Amino acid sequence: MAEVIDGNRIAREVRAEIRAQAIELKAKRGITPGLAVILVGEDPASKIYVGRKEKAAAEAGFLSREFLLPAETTEDRLREIVAGLNSSPEIHGILVQLPLPKHINPDVVIETIDPRKDVDGFHPVNIGGLFTGRPGHRACTPLGVIELLDRSGIAIEGREAVIVGRSNIVGKPLALMLLNRHATVTICHTRTRDLAAVARRADILVAAAGKAEMVRGDMVKEGAVIVDVGIHRIPDASKKSGFRLVGDVKFDEVAPKCSWIAPVPGGVGPMTITSLLLNTLKASRHAFSPPSPLTWRARGWSCVATRGPMRACKTIRLPSLPGQRISTPSSCRWCWRSRWWTRWMRPCGWPTM
Ligand code: NAD
Repeated sequence: MAEVIDGNRIAREVRAEIRAQAIELKAKRGITPGLAVILVGEDPASKIYVGRKEKAAAEAGFLSREFLLPAETTEDRLREIVAGLNSSPEIHGILVQLPLPKHINPDVVIETIDPRKDVDGFHPVNIGGLFTGRPGHRACTPLGVIELLDRSGIAIEGREAVIVGRSNIVGKPLALMLLNRHATVTICHTRTRDLAAVARRADILVAAAGKAEMVRGDMVKEGAVIVDVGIHRIPDASKKSGFRLVGDVKFDEVAPKCSWIAPVPGGVGPMTITSLLLNTLKASRHAFSPPSPLTWRARGWSCVATRGPMRACKTIRLPSLPGQRISTPSSCRWCWRSRWWTRWMRPCGWPTM
């Protein structure tokens, strides 16, 4: 019988480490990792996901901001909010919950997010980074899969990995991550001929097809590692909730044959939000922390509005970031009513956040 990869335990461990690192970051550099989650519309499942993400961020000691927008929100308005968060120094990670209402193009919105704050790892710059093996944010569910394998001591290098599913959020990014870790990777999809034969080659088989219990015992090699990504609610009268969760893998048939299995529930699921926290922490580590007013004065920086000496002003032109401005809640005693305030503070959404 296979050893079960306990995603709940691993997620708890990783989140405890994230929390400790967030506390250290706050103590050493005065930075609290900040995550903004935007939900457009009333989709009940998305509401639950957003609630969970916010709770996890708060538990990790992050600053967490939730934007619940009506379904009629226009694409332009949404992009405006994202642009404001891009320039907000207290927010290091921005997540736009998908799916968006039909009148909003998700690609356009995702491309508006500053890639450094794209903690979902969906921005083309981050996808390009994954493709070329450069640093950047990685999609959360595949990152969670890699973390599960690593923390269970399962070797990836040199092994044959088969992924069932080629979606942009799971299958494809996971294939690249495994490839970057020197696995020999095969991606299967709906047009794959003889899926069972390909799956049987796998040392590591990842099921991410979104088809309940489609991976059966005869599709698995003896001693393989199985990672089940699918999530499905199956009606079950014996449960208080009226349903039970299953994955893409028929657990009872597969578990006796494999060496390790990440089951559903309790496998990959808890790791997805954990990866989101990891990405946000990473983004905040690389964030620029505004120096104290004393430092500004010592460096002789001046207020962009009055061009006079800096007093309490934190709306400044930073020599290290030409053309960019950092805004913080306190304003220059000389210019707080100036157009700079209106132009730079309002898009950040500061007074309302
Ligand atoms: P998707 O529908 O976007 O993609 C499914 C992919 O599987 C497609 O590429 C399709 O070609 C392939 N596929 C479908 N049926 C197949 C078949 N019979 N044989 C071979 N290939 C087949 O789905 P997705 O967004 O990648 O999600 C996949 C599953 O993972 C879903 O059940 C989803 O709920 C779950 N999921 C879980 C998490 C998590 O946090 N645990 C996160 C994302 C998705």
